[in-house]
Formats: sequence, C-alpha cells, structure tokens
Amino acid sequence: MNIKTIGVLGAGVMGNGIAQVAAQAGYTVIMRDIEDRFVQGGLKNIDKFLSKTVEKGKMTADDKNNIMGRIKGTTKMEDLKDVDFVVEVVVEVMDVKKKVFAELDELTRKDVILSTNTSSMSITEMATATKRPDKVAGMHFFNPVPLMRLVEVIRGMQTSDETVAVTMELSRKFGKEPVEVRSDIPGFLVNRLLIPHMIEAIKLYEQGIASKEDIDKAVKLGLNYPMGPFELMDLTGQDTNLHIMHYFFDNLPKELKWDPPFAIRNLVRAGLLGKKSGKGWYDYSK
Ligand code: NAD
Repeated sequence: MNIKTIGVLGAGVMGNGIAQVAAQAGYTVIMRDIEDRFVQGGLKNIDKFLSKTVEKGKMTADDKNNIMGRIKGTTKMEDLKDVDFVVEVVVEVMDVKKKVFAELDELTRKDVILSTNTSSMSITEMATATKRPDKVAGMHFFNPVPLMRLVEVIRGMQTSDETVAVTMELSRKFGKEPVEVRSDIPGFLVNRLLIPHMIEAIKLYEQGIASKEDIDKAVKLGLNYPMGPFELMDLTGQDTNLHIMHYFFDNLPKELKWDPPFAIRNLVRAGLLGKKSGKGWYDYSK
C-alpha cells in the first residue's frame, strides 16, 4: 500500500475531522469544499481542536504546526489529481455524491480507491458513476472523528477484496478500529440501529409522552448511552438526519418503514440544524 496523499471532499462536520486524523497519522491531505468560507471553517475547526490538545499538554506546539502544515485546503477539484486515496464527505444526497464520483473518476489515477463516508446510502449505486466499481467502498467514520474509534468499511456489490483490505488497513493507520460490513444495506450497522431509535424518540416527544430532556435522560441513565437521541441529533445536524430518514423510508422493506416525523422536517425548514447552526432541539447560542 503506497498511500501518501489523501483527498478529502468536503470540509464540513465530518470532512475536517477526517482530514485531521489523516494528517495526524502522517499523511498529506488535500481538503476540498465548494466555497472558500467552508474550507476556512474546516481548517479553523482543526486548529481549534489541536490547540486544545496542546493546551492539555497532550501534543507539542511543533507537532500541531506540522499537522496543520500537512493539510492543504482548496476549492479547486484539479488539486486532487495526484492523490493516492479519496474519502468523499459531501452532503448526504445521492445525486451530488454521484456527480462527485464521476468527476473523481475522470481526475484521479485509475488505481486510486474512491471511498465514501455516506451514513446510509448505497455504495453500489455511487460506484455506477465510475469506471472502477471494484475500487469504490464505504469508509464510514463517526462523529466527532478524532475521538470516535470505529470505522465501518462497507462492501458494495462490486468492491474487490483488495479494496476492502486496503481501506481496513488505512483505517488502522488513522488510529481507528475497522469493522467490515459485508453487504450494502441502508444505514449499514450503526445507523441501521440508531436511526429507528431517533425516529421513535421524536415520535414519543411529538405525542407528548415525555419531554425531550426526559427522553435524553432516560436513554443516558437507563441504557448507559453517553448521549440522548436529541443531543446526538443536534451533534449530527438535522439536515443530515432527515436525509438519512428519507433514504431509510424509501429504501427499506415496507414492514420496516419509519416515516420521518414532522418535528424534524420543521426544524430543517427553519434552519435549526443543531450545534452547527447554533440551535436545534436545544439552544447552543449562549
Ligand atoms: P456538512 O453539511 O457539515 O458538510 C458537507 C460539506 O460538503 C459542506 O461543507 C458542503 O459545502 C460540501 N460539499 C457539497 N458539495 C460538495 C462538492 N461537490 N465538493 C466538495 N464539497 C462539497 O455534512 P457532514 O455532517 O460533514 O456530512 C458529510 C457526509 O458524512 C454525509 O454523507 C453524512 O451522511 C456523513 N456522516 C455524517 C455524520 C455526522 O455526524 N454529521 C456522521 C457520519 C457520516
């Protein structure tokens, strides 16, 4: 595996975290977003995280500067032409992802693996936008990326054994524990379990059975989860949550259908996306 440079497409909540762990593992990273303000926002987030690590005495200022020096932010797609491995981390919308995969297929060397951080959608379908479906795989990180140890490596219909092995190995190099998901199903392992749990929590809240604070408390104290479903939804972003809920509703068998509740549809309409917009289920503006 001769991977030196990682291309990261998207500098948002997950993209900048993935760029950070790759740079911390010694890789050169090209992080691309569509507008400079998103690129700068991503770089600022990484800087903030690493500064805190330095303050805690867990990293030297020199180490931090070296890590930042390995990350190049850009808005130009052409800057990814010499990368050795790609992680796509753009919005959770199939048409956008397929367009990005088609562009990457044209731009990058033919031996380069094109992975996706999708939370729920078909790897097999994204691979159809390329001429290298054997080199397309899921590489699903968790939020916040620098702290969460799991990576799900997902096999699409045509993903080769070698692509799975390289993606698993790279996850380990990033300091993560990979698990292999052998079949391309909506939500893979973790979100297949988590999204229905979030939908049921919103329905309990909408029906007035309990407050969102009490539902969060019940899950934390009764299930020993570190966060309740509403706190977790605010961390993820309601736009991303709702995209996944719609995808589940459209793609899972009828008997398993969960319909996206109105309360989350309205939060997205109002732009109350969670921590990233300052307010979601809870208020983070103060
Ligand atoms: P986000 O909205 O924070 O960031 C997405 C970024 O992609 C935005 O900055 C947007 O400008 C950018 N973008 C859109 N089109 C682009 C293009 N053509 N090229 C480059 N950048 C482009 O979203 P996020 O939470 O980082 O989610 C990104 C992906 O990661 C989604 O597939 C999501 O399902 C997945 N994911 C999210 C979480 C989470 O907790 N938020 C966890 C695991 C996986």
